[in-house]
Amino acid sequence: MAKSYLETHPDENGFFGKYGGSFIPPILEKPFADITQAYQELKNSPAFIEELKYVRKHYQGRPTPISFAKNLTEYCGGAKIYLKREDLNHTGAHKLNHCMAEVILAKYLGKKKVIAETGAGQHGVALATAAAYFGLECEIHMGEVDIAKEHPNVVRMKILGAKIIPATHGLKTLKEAVDSAFESYVPQADEAIYCIGSVVGPHPFPMMVRDFQSIIGFEAKEQFLEHEANLPDNIVACVGGGSNAMGIFSAFIEDEAVNLYGVEPMGRGDKIGEHAATLTYGSEGVMHGFNSIMLKDENGEPAPVYSIGSGIDYPSVGPEHAYLKEIGRTKVGLSNDEEAVAAFYKLSQLEGIIPALESAHAVAFAMKLAASLPKDKTILINLSGRGDKDIDFVVENYPIPNAKF
Ligand SMILES: *Cc1c(COP(=O)(O)O)cnc(C)c1O
Repeated sequence: MAKSYLETHPDENGFFGKYGGSFIPPILEKPFADITQAYQELKNSPAFIEELKYVRKHYQGRPTPISFAKNLTEYCGGAKIYLKREDLNHTGAHKLNHCMAEVILAKYLGKKKVIAETGAGQHGVALATAAAYFGLECEIHMGEVDIAKEHPNVVRMKILGAKIIPATHGLKTLKEAVDSAFESYVPQADEAIYCIGSVVGPHPFPMMVRDFQSIIGFEAKEQFLEHEANLPDNIVACVGGGSNAMGIFSAFIEDEAVNLYGVEPMGRGDKIGEHAATLTYGSEGVMHGFNSIMLKDENGEPAPVYSIGSGIDYPSVGPEHAYLKEIGRTKVGLSNDEEAVAAFYKLSQLEGIIPALESAHAVAFAMKLAASLPKDKTILINLSGRGDKDIDFVVENYPIPNAKF
């Protein structure tokens, strides 16, 4: 039997076409080779697979359901909208899917500590949770701007026992947090591993994080058939680094009738520094140890980026997204701040679900797509997380529509 897409991508050097690979200082080559080897061993280990199954079911609360968004569908007046509810995964987003597995891997390698960056704080919270569960130390790097904006998640991480290190250079957001975490990891590589928060970074992370997140797509494929006789016609997910999108896409890549949309944030406009629409406006370049599509400034350096969704304002994108777009398997959708906030309130008021601002970008694009399609078509949105972390910021900056008080 021919090998599947997931078995043949990436190649053994971590390349998806020309994207991906591993561009790291020599001092990190050994630690990353160890991680790659440990992952190959664990992937085929029945004990690891059992442990992961156990924590997913009995700790994380998986499978997460698929909900039919009946009121939102009627409001949009076109295709039927369904939601894959990663907001109901423990800690409120999809991130725990790979964090639990990454911490099991850290333990397998005999490490005492996990280090990571975080944007909105979701990856930090998920990793701090996994570290608490498995009894490891946890160090989280976060931009100062995000620390101020995502206060509840900062408090959660502290309660969970993590150490928070502010990134104070540049724009003080996600990219700077990655810089800071890498710098801290180098001298600690013997006792710690760097748990990257998305399908980005040097090989094997884009592959490993995708594989750990693919549970979303494999669950969804089975569950969707309980609602409809067919696979979804369209799948929509927001793309920052791209882990929740790869998680849901990966089970459907060979189902060519299923359209796959990755939604990028258009922020406040199309000028450099006002958005983080990497696949739309970027070009090939190496950053944070991998080759992909990157947003560049006039000097070819990573450009400043902005989005109201702190978890999706990253100037690069997972190499597999760059590849899948290039071969025409995926399409890019766009939503700006205003559309995301409108979708945030619509989903809350019509469905009783407050989405994360990141996920609201996917909802906003799906609403536009639904309105353009006939009623017998279907759209499955990956609702990557819940919006509790965003409520204060949103209500302070955007008045609640139809507020009754
Ligand atoms: C982190 C995060 C994202 C963005 O990360 P991806 O790797 O692109 O999925 C999206 N939604 C939520 C809720 C997040 O926490």
